[in-house]
Order: sequence, then C-alpha cells, then structure tokens
Amino acid sequence: MSMTRRELLHYFGVTAAGLAGPGCIGWTREEAIPVDSWHKSVCRFCGSGCETRVGVRGGKVVKVEGLQEGWNRGRLCIKGLLNREILYVSDRAQYPMVRKNGQLVRVSWDEALDAAAAGFREAIAQGGPDAVAYYGSGQLFTQESYTANKLFKGGIGTNNVDGNPRLCMASAAFGYKSVFGADEPSGCYDDIEHATTFFVIGANMAECHPVVWERVRDRLRTAPQTRVIVVDPRRTPTARDATLHLQLRPGTDVALLNAMAHELLRTGLVDRTFIDNFVTFRKGAADAPPLTREDFQKFLEDYAPEKVADLCGLSSAEIREAARLWGISQAVTSFWTMGLNQQTHGVAANRMMMALHLLTGQIGRPGASPFSMTGQPNAGGGVRDTGSLAHALPAGRLVSKEKDRHEMEKLWGLPEGRISPNPGLSAVPLFEAMREGKVRAALVMATNPARSLPNADRYRVGMEKAFLVVCDSIFPTDTAQLADVFLPAAMWAEKEGVFSQSERRYHLVQKLVEPPGEARSDLEILVALGERLGHGELLKARTPEAVWDEWRRISAGSTYDFTGITYARLKELPGLVWPCPSEDHPGTCHRYVPGKDPLAKKEGRIDFYARPDGRAIVYLSEQGPFREALTGDYPMILTTGRRLEHWHTATLTGRIPQLQGVDMDYLEMHPGDAAVMGVNEGDLVQVTSARGSVRLQAKPSMRVRPGVVFALMHSMKHLVNAATSDHVDPISAQPEYKMAAVRVERVKEGT
Ligand code: SF4
Repeated sequence: MSMTRRELLHYFGVTAAGLAGPGCIGWTREEAIPVDSWHKSVCRFCGSGCETRVGVRGGKVVKVEGLQEGWNRGRLCIKGLLNREILYVSDRAQYPMVRKNGQLVRVSWDEALDAAAAGFREAIAQGGPDAVAYYGSGQLFTQESYTANKLFKGGIGTNNVDGNPRLCMASAAFGYKSVFGADEPSGCYDDIEHATTFFVIGANMAECHPVVWERVRDRLRTAPQTRVIVVDPRRTPTARDATLHLQLRPGTDVALLNAMAHELLRTGLVDRTFIDNFVTFRKGAADAPPLTREDFQKFLEDYAPEKVADLCGLSSAEIREAARLWGISQAVTSFWTMGLNQQTHGVAANRMMMALHLLTGQIGRPGASPFSMTGQPNAGGGVRDTGSLAHALPAGRLVSKEKDRHEMEKLWGLPEGRISPNPGLSAVPLFEAMREGKVRAALVMATNPARSLPNADRYRVGMEKAFLVVCDSIFPTDTAQLADVFLPAAMWAEKEGVFSQSERRYHLVQKLVEPPGEARSDLEILVALGERLGHGELLKARTPEAVWDEWRRISAGSTYDFTGITYARLKELPGLVWPCPSEDHPGTCHRYVPGKDPLAKKEGRIDFYARPDGRAIVYLSEQGPFREALTGDYPMILTTGRRLEHWHTATLTGRIPQLQGVDMDYLEMHPGDAAVMGVNEGDLVQVTSARGSVRLQAKPSMRVRPGVVFALMHSMKHLVNAATSDHVDPISAQPEYKMAAVRVERVKEGT
C-alpha cells in the first residue's frame, strides 16, 4: 500500500513530532506480518534509547514495535520503526577484505586479521605505541568500547583512544565533570511529568529526540500551564511548541545564559539557601581559589540583558522574560544537545546551563534537572562511562592522575606504570597526526569519520596515508573505501551487548538472528586482533556477559556504581538506571539526593559527593570572541542540523529504500538574503568557507535568521562537512560544527 507521510505516521502510531515536515511519500509495508517469537530490545539509533519488542520468524527480524513497559510507553519514531529495515539493506558488509594492488579484495578472516595485526606491529616498531590509535563510536556496545579501551590503553600502551562522541557531547561531559565532579545528567525522564517549565537550548528534540519530546507534549496536554522556552537560531518544529522562542545569533549562548543569571540575581529569583550551602564560585578550573556570590554578581555586570542583547540578536525584554519564567517556576527541566556542545565555547555554555539550575536550586527535585541528551545509542554508557576517550579511564578516572592509572593497572592485572601518563590525541588532532604521519595505523569501528569530521577533506588525506583498519556493518562507507583492511561487523540484533541512553539507563540488546555472510561481532574482532598483538591474556573476558561482569566489578565503589545491574536483571527488566550498587537496588532517578541516591551519604537536601567539598561549582564563564569573524569574504554563518527521518551521516538511514525520497540536500536561507542574491527556491547555491565548499539547492525559509544559513548534516550526495569548522573548544576538544563563516553564491548554469 502507498501512503502519504501523515498517513504513514498515523498507521504506525508515530509521534505527532513526526508530522513536522515534508517527505516520506510512497512508503509501502506488509500488513499482518506473522511472528514466531517476541523479544525485548532497544532502538539502534538516537540517544533517547527507546525500548522495543522485536518479532522474529524463520531466523529473520520481521517486526519492531515500541515496548509498552518501556519508558517510551510503546512509542517509536520513524527511525525506530526502521530498525528492521537497516538489517536488510543491500549494502551490508559480509566478507573481510584486504587491499591488494590498490583494490580491496575478499580474503579469509585469518588473512585479514593477520594483515591488520602486521600493520599495527609495523607501526609500533617504527613509532612506538603512540604511532597507533583506536577511533570508536557511541554505536558500539559497552562491552566493545570497554574492551577496545583496555586493549589500547592497557595492552598496547597508548591513550590514542577516541571516537565520534568527542564530536557530539564532549563539552557536556567536561561540563558535568567540572561542575559536579562526575559526568552524566543527574535526573531522569520521569522528571518530565513534574516539570512546570522546559528550557530547551541547542536541541531540536521534536526531530532529533522525538519520543522524549512526545513525552514533553504529553505533559503540555495534561498540564497546559506548563511553559516551554526554546533557544535556537532556527525556528524548528520544537520551537513551534514554545511559549517563548529566543531566536538567538549562533554561538552567543554563554552571553545569553550569563544575562539570565544576571537578571535572576538582580530580581532575587534565586535560592540563597541552596547557594550558601551547596555551591561555590570559581573561575577557570575546579581547583581555582573560591570566589564569592558578590564576585560572581560583579562579573555579570558586563552581561546585563541590555548590554548583550545586540550581540545575541535578541531584545533585552526577551532575555528578561526568559529569566523571569525560569525564576518563578516550581520545577525547571532543561534539555540541550549538539547546539550547545558543538561550539568553541561549548564547555562554558554547559557550565552556565548547570549554573542556572544551581543558582535557583532547580536540581535534585522531581521535575528539576539539567539534562543533556546524547545523539547516539551508547555514547554515555559505552564511551563516557567506560572512559573510552583520550583523556579518560573507566568510571570517571583520568589518564592524568597517577592514582587513577594505578587503580586501573591493578584492576586490569597490569604492572604499575603500564598505562601511559600522557593523554592521547582527541578526534581532530588524531586525524591531523595521521596527516602528519605521526599516527601510522588506526582501527576505526562503527563510524564514518571521512564524512562526519568537520573540514572533512583535510582529514581524509590522513586516512589515505595511514594503515587503516575499518570495521563496519555497511560497505562501502566513505571511510571503508580508504581501508587497508576491512572487517565486516554484525549489527544490533545479530550480536549481544548493553546500551546506555541519555538518562543513564542500561539495557540489553539480545542476539536474535545471525549476521549476514561472515560478519562477526565487534567484540570477537577485538579479541582476535588483541590475541594477534600478544594481548590475549589481558582480554580474558571474551563473551558479552563475561565482559559485562568484569565492567560491573570495576564500577564498584566508584561514583558510577552499577554493580547491581546484572545480566539476569537486564534480561528481565526494561533497563535499570545507575547508580545501582546492589542486586536488590531499583536504580536511581535523582543523583546526589540523600535517601534516593545510594551514594549520597550526608543528610539534608543534596550531597554533591563527587566533589571533595560536597559543593557544586558555578563558574565565571566569559562569552569569549568568535573563532571565525564574519568578513566581507565570508559574511554569513553556516549552521548544521538534522531532520526527523534521517540519522547522522545517513550511512544507515540513507540506504533504506523507503526513505529515498526524503530531501537532504537543501540550504535554508532567509527570504530576504535570497532576494538580495537573486536566489529562488531550487536554485543551486554554493556555500564556501575558508576550508571548502558544498553545493546545495536553495530553500528560502523564515525558519532561519537573516545572515544565517542551515544545512542538514545527512546529505549523502554532498559533503556538507567540507565547509564546517574544525576549530575546537579548548577544554573539551569538541569541534564547532554549529558556526562557520561562509559566503553563499548562486551557481550560474554550466559552472
Ligand atoms: S526517538 Fe531515538 S531511540 Fe526512540 S525510536 Fe526514535 S531514533 Fe529510536
């Protein structure tokens, strides 16, 4: 049967969020699919982490639905419903390959793994352990990221372990760690039913986390007095639900949040008791000398609403109203994601979001929580919790701390001094080091950096130069085409492992069907490679359950304690939210709250136990200058984002036949700008930054501000990341995808 998008979404019971945009016409799907058995699982796509029930028949996944008992109450967005389809796209990788005479040719697993190990051994022989690297993904299972991290940091002896979560949420991770002493949000999705105000900044949740947003809409339906403040340079579908939409100029979030803090303090809409008992003020670093609330107030004088309104592209009245609505609210839940994180001021912006909650005591109560969302299904648990980043070690430990290294050496059974004290290379410098020939070999798993890195053409050169082992479920991706060795990987229901989504909920993905061809799980691949590199003894835990149990033991006693999340419980329950230190513990919604969080030992309102003094930090955070000034050559700002039907670089969703008609190749520009340039809808325009250019179809739209243009990051035909900025935040090393200085020109026919 053929359906319009509206009919399709109603047919599947998809969220109203799905009705936001055009596309998806011509969808067909079988009715009344017979199912032999149903199994609990989790969506493969975004960091909302919707729980699913999966129907299997004849060794195939035949149906995926939302799990009624899950936090998502049976809902899935259109991407969730397509979990089945991505298993059976025609480009699934099936056989190992090795490059011979310039061509990737099919070989046996033994030959491919031997070649991979030989390439790594040669690179280490020439340049030492830091001549090799691992670049992973928030799409791997926790067991896989944990094992890769252990192999490279504990076995090979390099901290060159990073991955695509650096690109999407490193600024949030550094923000949480520096403010609370521990990473990850403090609240949970149940807060949505208690919030009286939602503050959404740099997040188009109606399209990028649609099922969570639908729960927000439920709240708006049942409690219509609930307010929504949306801060976004673009009038997104999320902004359509807003009581107040602040359409700020890209990259001015810190100034706006400082101005709100100024106004809250000026009007007395702060919680003085909470501040006096649970907060300190500092500038720069967590161990900087403490300052006073008066120091903070003085610092904010430069950020009075009327002083920053022009910079932010807002009126001072709008800023005051946002502060007032926040200040008079019973319970504020704030959501943010890439829009806030992907800036050179990303950590400062994150710190200020948390500061607004601390100044007003809007934390540790039902409905009151600072809540960053993740983009991938396991960036939190798999990468942040396991410390699979260049600066980190498992469960909040840091490479730079001797005590932390020695603890991990002991836990991994390694001699003292085995783990390098030098933080490794984070994503952008890692690929730059490949360009320079300093990193000679790299293992890339479950990600497509040739398309997802900013200034992508520059780093492609490095990938061409290095000995590249690529492990993925799809072939050929842009990165796979550069591989010296390609290893085919199983995908979600073809292997077993644990995902953790934005609210710290760990849940199990069961193996239900066999992978295609000779594809293997990433865990099997890591163990086989580790053995060939002489680290088989280190990787004694080899099954998903054995690795999980080892990882549980390592979490014991840390601020990430989830010892009580056993496999048996994960099989039974729709996930568990950590901290969860014992097998009879139900999981924790509100961290840091005595009586609710088992790790909070003090009495009273809150215990920020991960900080030495038990107090969270409000940082004096400057807006700082823009890394890319607008000039005559580059007078406009390019910002990027997503749409409902597609996910990230569309490596998966772009291959689903039913989504082929969904347009990904347009540039939104303000109608006034288009008129000045003589550009009409559908005209080909070239967007050029100091790094590169991309050609897209013009789409004049009131969604964007004058002077700002917007492109989807999904485009498969055009490399939008040729133009995006690879400037990084100085603390988190997260790149500034959300703001590049560009010029836009109409392309004349024949050029
Ligand atoms: S909201 Fe995210 S996790 Fe939920 S179904 Fe959609 S893509 Fe999957």
